[in-house]
Amino acid sequence: MKTMTCKQLGGACEQTFSTATFEEMAGLSKEHGKEMFKKNDAAHLEAMRATQLLMETPNAMQDWFKEKKTGIRCTSRRLIRVKLQKALNC
Ligand SMILES: [Zn+2]
Repeated sequence: MKTMTCKQLGGACEQTFSTATFEEMAGLSKEHGKEMFKKNDAAHLEAMRATQLLMETPNAMQDWFKEKKTGIRCTSRRLIRVKLQKALNC
């Protein structure tokens, strides 16, 4: 069982998601994101914009998730990461 917060998943709040697989985690996070989108939550909208950059690239989300897990952040090996860094200001 993995537990991650909305923030760790690229969101903007401390809500936690507990699932067995990455796919389930991504699903829950997406549902939560949709809810926040409906509420027009500014912090989440900004975070989602950054996450969308990742979604545009195949496997980028998984790579990014792996990096989150291993704690490696802000590497610049790929253009998509550069884009994300700009979006997240890190
Ligand atoms: Zn959230």
